[in-house]
Amino acid sequence: MKFYRRSQTKKISIGNVTIGGGAPIAVQSMTNTNSRDLKSTIVQIKQLEEAGCEIVRVSFPDLESVCNIKKIKKSIKIPLVADIHFDYRIALEAIKQGVDKLRINPGNIGSKDKVEILVREAKRAHVPIRIGVNAGSLKKIHRSKSDLLRAKALVNVVMEHVEILEKNDFDNVVVSLKSSNIYATVRAYEIFASKRNYPLHLGITEAGPIFSGSVKSAAGLGIMLYNGIGDTVRASLTANPVEEVKLARSLLQSMGFRSFGIDIVSCPTCARCQVDLIKIVSEFEKKTSGMKGLKRLSKPVKVAIMGCIVNGPGEAKDADFGIAGGKDVGVLFKDGKIVDKVNPDEWIPRLISMIRSYQGSQE
Ligand code: SF4
Repeated sequence: MKFYRRSQTKKISIGNVTIGGGAPIAVQSMTNTNSRDLKSTIVQIKQLEEAGCEIVRVSFPDLESVCNIKKIKKSIKIPLVADIHFDYRIALEAIKQGVDKLRINPGNIGSKDKVEILVREAKRAHVPIRIGVNAGSLKKIHRSKSDLLRAKALVNVVMEHVEILEKNDFDNVVVSLKSSNIYATVRAYEIFASKRNYPLHLGITEAGPIFSGSVKSAAGLGIMLYNGIGDTVRASLTANPVEEVKLARSLLQSMGFRSFGIDIVSCPTCARCQVDLIKIVSEFEKKTSGMKGLKRLSKPVKVAIMGCIVNGPGEAKDADFGIAGGKDVGVLFKDGKIVDKVNPDEWIPRLISMIRSYQGSQE
């Protein structure tokens, strides 16, 4: 099937972030605080920013909560998307408050007049609208047992909303078509991308708890990203949303789409390993996860931490540098060649200092 790939999608600006048209695939997440509670919502958005979230969505269920947008925007740096169900007055207030994008399905607003007013205001304020349909919200009539038919039903419902906006001469549009079924989701995105070139926000909805949900999200999102589909991603997990950001970033980096710093290469260990590699690697990961400035690298620095001297340097020869463990000493290697011997308590500081000099040499 021929479809528009991410380099061919329409460029859309969401606040200070551009998506589509080959722009870097953006990491999104969504708060799970009560948006009437300004303080906890801002705290969570800041945590998401810190973790590397680039666009945040907040659900505003009523006029009281949506009036917090101006104050939220003053405290955060990343673009804010207001998720609104049905009530166009809440959407209008969100625009008035300076929101960066709306997620609302125009077919659910009601009369033509209300849609026209909303579109007029969104146009005036340059606020894009995301049409987002989830399989769970399809009417019974659309809920087929066949994954392909379910995918087609998702696309049909999305197209109804898209056409309403297009009839109103509005094309500042982003689309998502999520299902918790990987096959139905992938097919739905492919079919939609064969019809329109609007940027696509990807997600496998209701993916589940942290471990199984991460696996499911990575599998589903990975297929679409590999095939050239997807301008922004969100991993929907039943967990702290910071975990969604970590997963999305890790997925994009492991597939080579984005560089967020360090790519850790470490072995699963075996009978040859004489060090507590699991502990060392997890400590290294913790200490380096917030290292500043690494995002500026055009590709992540690959650091290996391997369990034995016999095979370690060879198995990790793709790494920029690393350490392989012996009984009381590790060997430091660079570009596959041994350059020094290091005591176990110095492994992590030594690797961190090598990351710093690597970073300096790339700037
Ligand atoms: S690097 Fe060494 S310890 Fe690690 S898996 Fe390979 S052989 Fe085993």
